[in-house]
Amino acid sequence: MRAAITERAGSMVLLERQEPEAPGPGEVLLRPEAVGICGSDYHFFSGRMSAAAGGSQFPRVQGHELAGIVLALGAGCRPGLQVGQRVAVWPLHACGQCYPCSVGRENTCDQFRLTGIHLDGGLQELLSIGQKQVFPIDVGDPAIAAMAEPVSIAVRAVNRASVQPGERAVVLGAGPIGQCICMVARERGAEVLVIDLLDRRLALSRDIGAQTRRWRGADEVVEFARQWAGPAGPPVVFDATGTAAAVQAMIGMVASAGRAVQVGMSNEEASIRVGSLTEKELDLLGVSCCGEQEFAAAVAVVHRNAAMLARMVSHQFGLDEAPEAIRFAMSNPADVLKVVIRVS
Ligand SMILES: [Zn+2]
Ligand SMILES: [Zn+2]
Repeated sequence: MRAAITERAGSMVLLERQEPEAPGPGEVLLRPEAVGICGSDYHFFSGRMSAAAGGSQFPRVQGHELAGIVLALGAGCRPGLQVGQRVAVWPLHACGQCYPCSVGRENTCDQFRLTGIHLDGGLQELLSIGQKQVFPIDVGDPAIAAMAEPVSIAVRAVNRASVQPGERAVVLGAGPIGQCICMVARERGAEVLVIDLLDRRLALSRDIGAQTRRWRGADEVVEFARQWAGPAGPPVVFDATGTAAAVQAMIGMVASAGRAVQVGMSNEEASIRVGSLTEKELDLLGVSCCGEQEFAAAVAVVHRNAAMLARMVSHQFGLDEAPEAIRFAMSNPADVLKVVIRVS
């Protein structure tokens, strides 16, 4: 079978490799169909995965946003899984033993491993994976089914923020994660303001039901968002950019007693005036990946919003073109929303 293997920083090659054996007890053999690539893939590919996230360990088959078809089931798989089904893959593997696992936060497990980052992922023609990781998904297009993973991050973010019906929430960044947060927060009944540099992205946010504002610098958007939300400022703000300026804007605009939710990931450092945390008594909430129930909730979000999610898939490539796809995505950030590689 063919696999796209990231051999070392900046180098992905197509190689033949041995097929997995028939699935063992509790395992599922998948034929990966579609893999979305995202910022985490860029970090991994370029060797910049932070040490805290396990570093970039090569060689690796990437692909953590993944949909595929069940080809075979090992013994003891749960009822409801069937050969021929399309499934989305929940990529998290947690140890079950450490402190975060013991308090029900397996998504921040100290030994956590993700399919496609720490374990071989979807950019290969066959993949054997534990049955717990696969969720049947009923959409016709595997590229949309693969969106379940980025949607799951949005479900996690909105849960962390405890977004309430009628609340005003600001989302900084209208990439796929920001758009998905907007979608999930709208479903929860929130009023949403999305802020981004790119008008094209904001047009999609408006179609999802958000109001929008073009980023014109931190001071300007802080002022605008505070007016939009009323004098107290927005009670919930999400950063889906990972940039220092947006993080500073988030802290600046959020209401006292509000929730500032960091979803965008980067190695940047943002300086924050310490007193703004105490004076506002902020809940500053980080978001990693999601738990099992949240992934199931994300699949339901995909079922309800397939047409809108289809609009986020901006470019598709074949498996042969996987090296080109990741280079294209990394070098054209303004043109790309979600790049999907069609594996089969
Ligand atoms: Zn991702
Ligand atoms: Zn653990």
